[in-house]
Amino acid sequence: MISVTINGKPRTLRGETPLPQLLHSLKLDVRLIAVAVNGDVIPKNQYKAVVLRAGDVVEIVRMVGGGSLEARSSKLEARTPPHRTSSLESRASSVGAEVVVAGAGIIGCAIAYELSRRGVSCLLLDSRRAGMAATNAAAGILAPLAEFRRPDALVHLGLASLRLYPEWVERLREQAPEVDVEFARNGVLRVAFDGEEMAELRAGLRYQAELGMELIELDGATVREVEPRLSPRIVGGVLCPEEGQVSNQMFTIALSRAARKRGVRIIESCPALGFRARDGRVVAVRTPQGEFACDRLVLAAGPWTRPLARKLGVDVPTRPMRGQMLAMGGMVTPIHAVVWGARGYLVPRANGLVFAGATVEDVGFRLRTTKAGLAQVRRAACELVPQLRHASEHFSWVGLRPGSPDGLPIMGPLPGWENVTVATGHFRNGILLAPITGQLIAQAILDGRPGEALAPFDPGRFTLSNTS
Ligand SMILES: Cc1cc2nc3c(=O)[nH]c(=O)nc-3n(C[C@H](O)[C@H](O)[C@H](O)COP(=O)(O)OP(=O)(O)OC[C@H]3O[C@@H](n4cnc5c(N)ncnc54)[C@H](O)[C@@H]3O)c2cc1C
Repeated sequence: MISVTINGKPRTLRGETPLPQLLHSLKLDVRLIAVAVNGDVIPKNQYKAVVLRAGDVVEIVRMVGGGSLEARSSKLEARTPPHRTSSLESRASSVGAEVVVAGAGIIGCAIAYELSRRGVSCLLLDSRRAGMAATNAAAGILAPLAEFRRPDALVHLGLASLRLYPEWVERLREQAPEVDVEFARNGVLRVAFDGEEMAELRAGLRYQAELGMELIELDGATVREVEPRLSPRIVGGVLCPEEGQVSNQMFTIALSRAARKRGVRIIESCPALGFRARDGRVVAVRTPQGEFACDRLVLAAGPWTRPLARKLGVDVPTRPMRGQMLAMGGMVTPIHAVVWGARGYLVPRANGLVFAGATVEDVGFRLRTTKAGLAQVRRAACELVPQLRHASEHFSWVGLRPGSPDGLPIMGPLPGWENVTVATGHFRNGILLAPITGQLIAQAILDGRPGEALAPFDPGRFTLSNTS
């Protein structure tokens, strides 16, 4: 008999046990979980090579809605001290950092990661677990042209971020080699069910040259040559071969691991409750674990940024926009790449499931699925691939996107405060926009002012009241 620890609880095994045998005895579907042994995430194709021995610490998490591997395994990681080259004047206390980021979703993680690459010490706080809010709920589509009609500031920002992805993925592969982020630039196929929808899609084609993106118009028959299981009712489509997808969960895990290795501290279950300010500057963040001193503060708490900014007397009008999704499976993967229709989309994931999404609902912070919402998602999925009527539904989930009144992200200095930066409002595109957001916000913090590229997203564009 040997003793191991599984998800924090001691457990006795008959003897040294192959990992697949343990997972089988726990009746776990390996496609839906991630496993770490002694702090190392095990790639699925290496499960067979792992034999559990006495004293091993095993963490098993479900990939959607169930938990964050990073959160649990982080304490097992070796931490390296930050590489210090920052030019920021450091007044941080021993428990603080030059920059404190409130919110460890993909946006907070990307900013912390970029700051650490620039030698800035950074502390990332999350009220719950890193990456477990909208970031965990997303579909992972990287499509700057998602619903575009003409190229606006958001489309250009999205394109810039998409172009950063290969470089970021390459770097993360070196810094967190155990995590496969499932990045693929395998195209997004937008489809139309009638002439009106096709005209909408065609409207975008004229901007091809300006965008520097290839867009290919397809008739109905060719759409079905590309994706044979799509509905015979589809009359045409536009394929953008350069768009793609990523595992939002694994990408965020890799990002936070890489950030930690560069010295970023991530403290979970530690909400920012308020701030201590002096002379127009926030000098410390109040939390249940005490105060953390900071030179700069970043508010990156998704839709919760609004209540946080209110504590500083400023209205940052991001609001939660609920999205419900379904994981379908039990059949041969019916599509090869992301398919986008007017009423829903489908995303084939590496685990063989198809993610179908998503509702967009303005219902406040109500974080639960509804029968009507899931029925809408199911209808849209079956409209695209009729065969999905026979698919089994593995699970459903819900997330709150950080919306904004004009649909653009809210990024830049918080009006009235010298050292506070906001990064939220990424709405349906936070996964896509994480690299560019990390880069632009980190650089703005180092420079002490936002760069030109942030101008369209300035938080000061909304009516603001400073009541403090
Ligand atoms: C169903 C759905 C599908 C989506 N699909 C896609 C997609 O395919 N492609 C794409 O690009 N985007 C997609 N998105 C959007 C994307 O998920 C979001 O834009 C992105 O995750 C926002 O990241 P964030 O870090 O700003 O917010 P969040 O992920 O919400 O993170 C905010 C964090 O702040 C923490 N927090 C809150 N209050 C405090 C506090 N007081 N102190 C400290 N921490 C706090 C929270 O716990 C949370 O972890 C989708 C979203 C949903 C819901």
